[in-house]
Amino acid sequence: MSRKRKSPIYRYWGYLLLAGAVVLLFSRDVGPVAVSGAFALCFVWLLLAAPTWCGAKNRGEGYCRNNSTGLLGGCGKVRMHKWLRFKSLTRLDTFGNAVRGWFTGAPQQIAACSLAVSAIGVVAGLFK
Ligand SMILES: [Zn+2]
Repeated sequence: MSRKRKSPIYRYWGYLLLAGAVVLLFSRDVGPVAVSGAFALCFVWLLLAAPTWCGAKNRGEGYCRNNSTGLLGGCGKVRMHKWLRFKSLTRLDTFGNAVRGWFTGAPQQIAACSLAVSAIGVVAGLFK
């Protein structure tokens, strides 16, 4: 894998877009559809493509810290984790574990907070 050769800005473009969307929200010249669309794009990016940790619950203690893409994704190194992440979102009793996995470290916390911001942004944009 050539992860190191990729520019960091390329991997974090969703955060730049989120910052841009916040600016758009306070700009008078931009319509509600464009603002909500930008926030919605951030929301999807965070779920599917943001650089985060896997966050799947390990069998022992703690959470998996392998790199992963998106809050919904598990790491590719442990095949079970992708399935585990998917399964946990379909069952309420383990949903808490899945969400807790989103707060296992700085990249996860930033992504989860940004997810909340973009969700609020989509709604705020509509009422702009
Ligand atoms: Zn994992």
